[in-house]
Amino acid sequence: MCSIMFDADLSGLVRDREVTLWYLQNDVFTGVIVTGTGTGCHVLGVNLKEGETEADFTDERCVELVRLATGRPDLDVRVLDRPVFSISHVLADTYRVGRVFFAGDAAHTMPPTGGQGGSTALEDGCDLAWRLWLVLTGQAGPDFLDTYDAERRPIGELMADAQLANLGVRMPPEARVGYPEPLKDPVGVLLGRRYHSTAIIDEPGDDGSLLEDPRVPTGRPGSRAPHVVLDWAGQRISTIDLFGSGFVLLAAKPGGQAWMDAGRLVKERLGIRLTRLLVGDELIDVEGRFTERYGVTESGAVLVRPDGYVAWRSPEAGPDPMGTLERVLRRILSR
Ligand SMILES: Cc1cc2nc3c(=O)[nH]c(=O)nc-3n(C[C@H](O)[C@H](O)[C@H](O)COP(=O)(O)OP(=O)(O)OC[C@H]3O[C@@H](n4cnc5c(N)ncnc54)[C@H](O)[C@@H]3O)c2cc1C
Repeated sequence: MCSIMFDADLSGLVRDREVTLWYLQNDVFTGVIVTGTGTGCHVLGVNLKEGETEADFTDERCVELVRLATGRPDLDVRVLDRPVFSISHVLADTYRVGRVFFAGDAAHTMPPTGGQGGSTALEDGCDLAWRLWLVLTGQAGPDFLDTYDAERRPIGELMADAQLANLGVRMPPEARVGYPEPLKDPVGVLLGRRYHSTAIIDEPGDDGSLLEDPRVPTGRPGSRAPHVVLDWAGQRISTIDLFGSGFVLLAAKPGGQAWMDAGRLVKERLGIRLTRLLVGDELIDVEGRFTERYGVTESGAVLVRPDGYVAWRSPEAGPDPMGTLERVLRRILSR
């Protein structure tokens, strides 16, 4: 594909409409035009035909293509750049080789259709960062870094396949061969992902799914910790605001105090950053939904990782909260 970046006045290109992304097919080319408003930089993406190379995209031809795409034969066009790139769908076999970790396009090159390549790259970076932090500060064992590949590679594959499917539906029908089916729930792909690795303690009977419907969160280990409205010292916050710095142990009053006490002891014994929060104490469950959303009773507990994913939960009180919590954390942290 050639991205022709150009400067031209496209005011009034389509009356009464605010559209920025157009897929075009006509006798001359198949491509996409991304328009800014009025003057400024716009992009025309043109699919290369068999045998065409970068050299075929001279200034004159680029101007001609822009005029054809916009339907303005006399348009004053200034070509700014015309990089040629291949649309790819390539996945690394592993995200880790010894001390080397793969992230972003090096791990998963995907078609741009859907705009998730950069987002997935940023997620990889954040994900690797908190795992490295745990290992470098001695909170987790070195094997913990293998969980990066175990958790992120299936997501990279999922996103790359989803974008490939999006490309397929935008292809002319005769070229739409061998593409995966588009995902039914694009929101689920972004907010309903699940992880499975030794850093998650799956519950018996877990279906191992990579996706769930984020509109009906389950609080299952491996899922994003659900949103619940809380009142904290007169301020409205979300449970999501509690995560991001170390582990968080959540339990409800009155039965959760035993888990809080266990958390204090285990935190000291293992030397980990763990925040213990009792819902119903300094945090008020405004809508009374915490236990239902997190799938625990008022004597259970939930352990949330620094990335906001549920690592483990105990729906009920247990006979030995401290022993249980220590075993859980040792297993999760590869200690
Ligand atoms: C047309 C198009 C539209 C897109 N739209 C979106 C979008 O809307 N949303 C989105 O999230 N993503 C989008 N993407 C994808 C996104 O641009 C990429 O997924 C993202 O840039 C990948 O980031 P990265 O850091 O992994 O790799 P890159 O951005 O490729 O960065 C790698 C860097 O390494 C440098 N480098 C390479 N080799 C060496 C070397 N040997 N030594 C030193 N440096 C080196 C390169 O020069 C480059 O700067 C789009 C991509 C395209 C092509």
